Amino acid sequence: MRLTVDPTMCVGYGACAQLVPEIVQLDQWGFPILEAQDAPPPVTGFERDRRTVEVPPPLEHLARRAVHICPKLALAMGH
Ligand code: SF4
Repeated sequence: MRLTVDPTMCVGYGACAQLVPEIVQLDQWGFPILEAQDAPPPVTGFERDRRTVEVPPPLEHLARRAVHICPKLALAMGH
């Protein structure tokens, strides 16, 4: 399963990052960066897509909870 954020809807409350910090971090403005903490560094010259991340199975229930508590409906789970 993948977790995806729609940056046009997110207002940066940061509740998602509190629930699953293993895959959601906040940038300097408080907006979510979706990235596994153990992700390898990006290939030089290419930007990594930080709006979607593969959710490890043990974290799926917390990721789903983040989807449900997001006040702006900016998060989604899917394949
Ligand atoms: S909980 Fe929703 S609105 Fe808040 S930072 Fe996360 S995605 Fe954005």
